Amino acid sequence: MKITFVGAARTVTGSSHLIEINNTKILLDHGMYQGKRKEAFELNRQYSIFHPEEIDHVILSHAHIDHVGNIPTLVKKGFNGNVFSTFASRDLARILLEDSARIQEHDVYFVNKRRIEQGKKPFEPLYTVDDAMKSLDHFVGLGYHNRFKINKDIAFTYYDAGHILGSAMTLLEISERDKKLTIGFTGDIGRARRPILRDPEQLPDVDILISESTYGNRLHDKDEDVIQKFISIINRAIVKKSKIIIPAFSVGRTQEIVYYLRKIFDEKLVAEIPVYVDSPLAVNATDIYKQHPECFDKETRSIISDREDPFGFDKLTYIRDVQASKALNKQSGPMIIISASGMCEGGRVLHHLANNIEKPNTIIMIVGYSAEYTLGRRITDKEKVVRIFGDEYKLNAQVEVFHSFSAHADRDEMLGYFDKFNREKIKKFFLVHGDYDVQLDFKKSLEGIGFNNIEIPKRGHSFNF
Ligand SMILES: [Zn+2]
Repeated sequence: MKITFVGAARTVTGSSHLIEINNTKILLDHGMYQGKRKEAFELNRQYSIFHPEEIDHVILSHAHIDHVGNIPTLVKKGFNGNVFSTFASRDLARILLEDSARIQEHDVYFVNKRRIEQGKKPFEPLYTVDDAMKSLDHFVGLGYHNRFKINKDIAFTYYDAGHILGSAMTLLEISERDKKLTIGFTGDIGRARRPILRDPEQLPDVDILISESTYGNRLHDKDEDVIQKFISIINRAIVKKSKIIIPAFSVGRTQEIVYYLRKIFDEKLVAEIPVYVDSPLAVNATDIYKQHPECFDKETRSIISDREDPFGFDKLTYIRDVQASKALNKQSGPMIIISASGMCEGGRVLHHLANNIEKPNTIIMIVGYSAEYTLGRRITDKEKVVRIFGDEYKLNAQVEVFHSFSAHADRDEMLGYFDKFNREKIKKFFLVHGDYDVQLDFKKSLEGIGFNNIEIPKRGHSFNF
């Protein structure tokens, strides 16, 4: 058996790991690399480690673009096998891949305008909406805990990862000649005691562990502070008639914020004010959440059995229509607008920011991580002047930063998770999906609780077992 690390190796995007057993080749995830433009362009298009037509199956951990986002390219370049995923991941992949394809088409359109002016050959988009739709034909939905035999030598089982709807950890059981091996792949590890989703499930003891390490040296804020902070911001908005703008990822974060707001208003902790979810993708994603109660925790299921909607309340409006989105601009506060994208790199949130960022009574709530050089990061850092649609705006709005809204386990949560594993059994513990300096810190922490044989593979590194 051989493992080759194809992506998310010493970095956080492009999750993809190749497992070769006898003559079968399996990819764990096939995500999009999202880094510097030129590098991303090459890495997502060129297959130097394997050829797409050699791959027999993909086992998907979850539907985030950095895990699923390059499957349309794989299919376009000759892959003709199954993409196994949970049912919810397949449904989310449909809307996320379509959205990603639109972004690809849009991006290349502007680049090509310039190239054509310069007399250069236009680029093809990485993939089109059509390619994305074709790739969905390959998806095969499976339930959690349903051991699935790929062939006589390979079986796998999904465990709940508690990260986003449908997210899974994978247990692979392999037999090669007389040898039996188990591999655990965490995908992205979620967090215990979070709303909506179940807590991450414990994988059984394994011979080889492949784990994410995104927050391997960071700790999130405590949960209780969030509700209190939220309430005081809403109270301030009521007094000042403020618009609270929350840039949020459409899948996961938006539903979580809505869930919290519903709870706060339901328990009458603060007066109810109008809330708008203004993002077509977020509206579609919320519909998919509602179709998969099998992924919910007990609390959320009991809300449903009381015939209530965990993602709805009286003053909440979901907006798809552009005119309705524009009309928000003429309405006065207090109100809350939840809109994508989370890092403020595109989407309708840009219009709301452009219209309100110079007003001192606007409150911008940052509830997620923003990468360097994005508008989201500049707002998080409270820069005095920011650019939106090429124009300069003074950042007069109040900025409130939350650190606890993460879908990833932090260092201590991950250490708590791994602490239950039998150290003796693990032959190799691979750390993937993290920045290298963070991974080095996390490796030390793991060694501190008795783990050995920890490896931080580079892209292209192979290991035989
Ligand atoms: Zn993820």
